[in-house]
Order: sequence, then structure tokens, then C-alpha cells
Amino acid sequence: MIPSHTTAVVLTAPRGTIAVASVPVADPGTGEVLVRMEACGLCHSDLFVASLEKLPRVPLTLGHEGIGRVEATGYGDGDCEGAARVHGFAVGDRVGITFLASTCGACEFCLDGRERFCPRQLNFGYTVDGALAAYAVVPAPLLFRVPDALPAAAAAPLCCAGWTAYGALREAGLRPGQSVALFGMGGLGHLAIQYARHLGLRVAAVDLSESKLEMARSLGADLALSAENAGRTLQKQWGGADAAIVLTGSPVAIQQAFRSLKRTGTLITSGLSTNQYELPIVDTVLKGISIRGSYLGTRADLEEVFRLAQSGVGRAHIETHALDQVPELFEKMRRGEILGRAVVLL
Ligand SMILES: [Zn+2]
Ligand SMILES: [Zn+2]
Repeated sequence: MIPSHTTAVVLTAPRGTIAVASVPVADPGTGEVLVRMEACGLCHSDLFVASLEKLPRVPLTLGHEGIGRVEATGYGDGDCEGAARVHGFAVGDRVGITFLASTCGACEFCLDGRERFCPRQLNFGYTVDGALAAYAVVPAPLLFRVPDALPAAAAAPLCCAGWTAYGALREAGLRPGQSVALFGMGGLGHLAIQYARHLGLRVAAVDLSESKLEMARSLGADLALSAENAGRTLQKQWGGADAAIVLTGSPVAIQQAFRSLKRTGTLITSGLSTNQYELPIVDTVLKGISIRGSYLGTRADLEEVFRLAQSGVGRAHIETHALDQVPELFEKMRRGEILGRAVVLL
């Protein structure tokens, strides 16, 4: 049965308050499914969306790290009335909702497996309503299959934090035995350490918080460094890192990451922020540094992240909460007080 309303975490206006509210649930249309949500993680990108001066739609349901089960389907494209499957999904299937809601399917990026760069993409919790709700009506083409064996709260952070961390490491293109410095030990960083070790890399973890560095050590980081002077310390201890991945939106972290690199090293930025950063041109040129942005990963990357989690690699450190605690949790997140990932049980 399709409920008439659901509880949801709603951004009321650009830079407005984040509130728990009752919102109407529509019948799933063509190519859409109704998902009974089980869990959804809270991501810094939710705060990024909440900080924007303009938004494509308000009020907006936030959330792009959702796990749930298909409760009802609309009509599939070209299907006859009563069709039970939409884009291969049927009632009872377990699905993951990420930041990527839909793409055009026809541009050069969609056609070569890099649909995350589609200029016509829609995004859950940004251009379309997201997953922080008991029920969500969502387009089905880019939903992911989630193994039944993974508990919902453990699987939720993989949909953004896990996917982004793994995608950034793959973007760095390192070989086993090479070194990587990871800047930012939040939701992404603590998963990135585990993937980096799985890929056979030497790992340095960098953060401002001693409790987050402690967690990094317990996850097997070879070095855990305070963010001030991390660049100089890595030059001294390792002769620089082959790659540095910045998992926060901090311009200061990007500068330290740049300083931490070996000659011909790669700087990857993957945290969102409206800030600008400044880097030295001379060093970029004379040291042959590559600077790249990394956004999510390929579809195969997320499937691999789910597979790895089943084998015990890339386990998110989670704290679970009820939906009505979300506004307060976002404040804690803004202050950097959450260790690992906060996940909401729906
Ligand atoms: Zn995210
Ligand atoms: Zn496209």
C-alpha cells in the first residue's frame, strides 16, 4: 500500500533550517519505484547543499546514502499496464540510493561509463528529493542492488562515502607498494584507509582531531599525522607520497597535500566546498605534479565496494540515530564531532 504522507528531513529554503516534516508521497510514475527506506547516512555534501545560496528546488528532502526495499513500482518504459518490473527492479528488491539520480544516457560521458560527469544529471537530495525519509519515490535507472547479507546501517555509508573514497583511490592509479596520504579522517577517510591497505598501499592519515587519528591508527594507517606541517613531515619521513587525496573541502588541507607529494606525484581533490584554493605554479611545473578532481566512481567501483564490505573490507564505523535527531546531528557534523558516519534508521 502506498502511504499518503511520510516523515522526511527537509531543507525548507536555501540556507534555511533543516527540519523533520511530513511530506506527501506520490504514486510512482513511469520508470519510478517506491522504496521503503531502511537507513540513510549523513554526508558533508548534505551540509554543502544546505549552504548554497540558490537551490533548484525547495522544500527539498535531503539524503543520498540510502538503503531500502522496493515497495511498489510504476510502469517501466514501454511496459504494459501492470508491469511488475521497472528497469529490472521488482517489489521486494533491496536497493541503494546514491547522489546520482538520473543521467541523459546519450552524451559521451554516459556512453563510455562515466555517467557521473553527465551534464544533464539529476542528484538525489539536491535536484530531486533524497533518501532521508521513511518512504521515497525515486527514478529506478541508477539504483544499485545491495546484497541482502549487508545490514542496512552498515551498507548506507558505502553509497557515498565508500564509493567516493574507493573512486578517488582508483583515480590516483597507484600500484601496490606505492604510498598515499589521505587528508581528512571523517566518513570518507576512515573507509579510504581500509581500501588503500586492501590495494597494498602505504598509508598516511592526516587530520586535525586526535580521536580521528587514533581511529586511523587502529585501522592500520602506517603514519597518522596532525594536519599542521603534514606536508613537511611526509617529505622528511617518506621523501613524499606518490599520491595525496583530500577528502575534505578545506583549502588548507589541499595546500598541505600538495606539499606532501613526491616529484611527479598526483593530487586528488574530492571534498566539496565553495572555497577557492591557491597552489604554487613553479612547483607544479618543475615537479610534474598532476592535479585531478574525483567525483564518486564508476558503477563497477560501487559494486566492488559492496563486495568488499561482504568480505570484511571497508567496514564503516557507524553511530545510529532516529530520524528526529537529524537537525541536531547536522550541527554536530558541522563542528566535526562525529567519528566515522552518523546513520539514521528509518
Ligand atoms: Zn555524499
Ligand atoms: Zn549524459
